[in-house]
Amino acid sequence: MSGNNYQLVCGLEIHSELKTKSKMFCACKNDPFAAGKPNIHTCPVCLGMPGGLPLANKKAIEWTIKIGLALNCQINLFSKFDRKNYFYPDLPKGYQISQHDIPFCHDGFLDTSQGRVRIQRIHLEEDTAKLIHQNNYTLIDFNRSGVPLVEIVTETDIKNAQQAKEYAQKLRQILRYLDVADCDMEKGGMRLEANISLKKKTDPDGFLPNYKVECKNINSFRFMEMAINYEMERQAKLLDQGQTPKQETRGFSAESGKTFSQRAKEEAEDYRYFPDPDLPPIEFEPAEIAQIKQELVELPDQYAARLSEEHQLSLDLAQRLVKNKKRAEFFEQLLILAKREKIESKKIINTLLNKKIDYHLSDDPKNTIEEYKKLNELEEMSPEIITELIKELLQENQDVVEKYQSGKTEVLAFLIGQSMKKIAKKVDVNLVKKVLLDQLNN
Ligand code: ZN
Ligand code: MN
Repeated sequence: MSGNNYQLVCGLEIHSELKTKSKMFCACKNDPFAAGKPNIHTCPVCLGMPGGLPLANKKAIEWTIKIGLALNCQINLFSKFDRKNYFYPDLPKGYQISQHDIPFCHDGFLDTSQGRVRIQRIHLEEDTAKLIHQNNYTLIDFNRSGVPLVEIVTETDIKNAQQAKEYAQKLRQILRYLDVADCDMEKGGMRLEANISLKKKTDPDGFLPNYKVECKNINSFRFMEMAINYEMERQAKLLDQGQTPKQETRGFSAESGKTFSQRAKEEAEDYRYFPDPDLPPIEFEPAEIAQIKQELVELPDQYAARLSEEHQLSLDLAQRLVKNKKRAEFFEQLLILAKREKIESKKIINTLLNKKIDYHLSDDPKNTIEEYKKLNELEEMSPEIITELIKELLQENQDVVEKYQSGKTEVLAFLIGQSMKKIAKKVDVNLVKKVLLDQLNN
């Protein structure tokens, strides 16, 4: 038996911190990574002191809806915040303010090259404080406590590790295009979680296995890919032996490339959700949602499709130009200028992507076009033509040639200068010198 008998059943839960100016439920600065010291952006609300009253951050709510619209979601016009009760030192209130049964967004999708991934829900919650484990003790930094955190949950549509990676990368790209999150994976600004199980290939579509392994807090796309592949192998072995993999939470070790058991999760946890009595429900008018939709920027897939059509580029090539918004805007400006100058779009793009011209996204595309033109002239002037022109020049300057041949080699500089003038195009001076020497010395 082998893993080939099984089909991956996988959904992702991705948390991303929003980069609003202030935190989710208080006026403290939202700056968990650049804060000079621990525990400086804090107040009674985000420290979880009794009596602290939360006030919801409007911008964070609008951004969550914006994310939902970008991911083709339905938006709940009526929504609310709930308390998710659990005990852990990074959460001194004893509960996290989250959303339970009425998230802001639901039923969306994101298309990957391997098919559509349906999005079940997107909700908004607060991040917890950060625990820093040292030797025998643990430190707590509350700068992160109360930072707005969106959670984007997919259906179990992911068919392999590669697709999981593509989905997560596209999601990050969209969040960055929307300019609502930095998604710094290394610092924990974006955290990946994969729910992984296997079914038999003969099981029907939509069949859900009777167990699920959660791989949590993965901080790189590659690690997630590795974790899923490792789990597929591990679970297939167990299933082949007639066992059911344990329902548990597992971590991923980058050193070993393996997942490891963290805690058993035999029953669903009981968070005793209930509506937060300190926060009123949130209601939107359809016109307000329409307004947010109108403010949506052009997203990477649409951007690539448009560039491809307007500038006769293959979709693949166009996709490479829109990896981030700044890059897309640079290349679009460049393509518009190229069109005006009747430069072939595919040619100039390939020249740049092959790094034949040194360019930066902060450059003025006009200068890049000039660079391209120079390079092209350089290439258009063939060595044969250069040789012809230099032969002519030497014939016109027999006296100088004689001087050179009688040992006055310093006239070479003069001849190079004259050659460049005669060629009258920007050519490689070393090539000119070489041709000159060949002619003079034969
Ligand atoms: Zn605060
Ligand atoms: Mn969450």
